[in-house]
Amino acid sequence: MQEFDCRQDLGFLPKAEIHRRQTALFNAHLRHLRNDSPYYREALAKFPDREYSLEELQDFPITDKSDFTNFGQQFIAVPREQIADLGFTSGTTGMPCQIAYTKRDLARLAYSDATGFLSAGMKPGDRVLLTCTMDRCFIAGLAYFSGVMAMGATGIRNGLNTVESHAEILMRLKPEGIVGVPSFLARLVRYLESNHLDCRSVRTAMCIGEPLRRSDLTLTELGEQLNSYWPGAAHSTYAASETQSSFAECAECAGGHAAADLVIPEILDQNGNRLPNGEIGEIVLTPLQVEGLPLLRFRTGDMGFLIPDDCACGRNTPRLGPIVGRKAQLLKVHGTSIYPATFTATLDDLPGVEEYYLEITGAELSDEVTVCVARDPAHPELTEKALQERIATRARVKPRVRLVSLEEARLHVYGRSRKPTRFFDLRNRKQP
Ligand SMILES: [Zn+2]
Repeated sequence: MQEFDCRQDLGFLPKAEIHRRQTALFNAHLRHLRNDSPYYREALAKFPDREYSLEELQDFPITDKSDFTNFGQQFIAVPREQIADLGFTSGTTGMPCQIAYTKRDLARLAYSDATGFLSAGMKPGDRVLLTCTMDRCFIAGLAYFSGVMAMGATGIRNGLNTVESHAEILMRLKPEGIVGVPSFLARLVRYLESNHLDCRSVRTAMCIGEPLRRSDLTLTELGEQLNSYWPGAAHSTYAASETQSSFAECAECAGGHAAADLVIPEILDQNGNRLPNGEIGEIVLTPLQVEGLPLLRFRTGDMGFLIPDDCACGRNTPRLGPIVGRKAQLLKVHGTSIYPATFTATLDDLPGVEEYYLEITGAELSDEVTVCVARDPAHPELTEKALQERIATRARVKPRVRLVSLEEARLHVYGRSRKPTRFFDLRNRKQP
């Protein structure tokens, strides 16, 4: 087995060569699933043991979160003594699922993130401030730190600390890179500006867990705020913990690339058929080279699209556009199908909105949306009625709006999970 080496970005190989390598890795992956994963030994029993082309991937069964919940341990494909780390995925719906990582899986994650950081413009020797948690059974923080080390940069693990604490580190250590949730980074930037602190050393801000761009690739207000303080720094990423796969924007900032030898993305329609590039559907990922918990065609529940044309950066890997919503979160409000992102996009862009979350109530086919907003006291014009009208302009439906205190909003958004949670499904029905 080859070592992972982020110094050589395989995305620049010719398409035919990437295809050849992925085909070999896909077949090795299938053999591992068949031989070592109790779940897939059964799921793949009717598929003859032969070499398959990448095009045949779409004939294989799909795995989703409910399979994971129901058959958890049966997905683990290595003996216990090879498991170096156990974590849980943080889904916004459903039960947390256990994931087993071998040492090589951890090296693979480091390679995955290092490749993304380098393509976004980070460099060996950079100092990178990490504003996300390293522990609590989440893999992301560890993966970012390992990625920083793998590319020859220096990690500063300040974790889930206060804005004031991060600002002090920025002033003292002048890091060139920062990794964090964009809404938090934007708050950090606002703090720096309002306190007249000049911390302009950051060239690359890797934004995790929240969208930074709209589906036409333009920056959201959060992204604009980051770039106005750190010009051109904001880069969007997408990761799906279960699949141990990540996508990161290159310098072109027009969709995220993944390492060419780590994952095959597909976009599927509601019936499980593959959609052409450019069309919005569910993101389904087949990670390659995973040992501990290998998966085949995993439904992420996230809705997105692959960008059809080649990237100007010269990489020949597919690019994933911004996430437009979660499948499980498709709402039906007064007969209109709508993703929560439609509401959140308006709020992200609205000056004076400090924090917000959505509460969804209602019966099976008729959802009620309550948007809870904490406003900046300097913006008294943002009344409940004014907010409702602003949201309705874009969303076409009028949600209920309730003003809440900043404390209450933060408790909801940051109190439950590694990722900020702004969507609370209080509907009285079984979760998908
Ligand atoms: Zn590119």
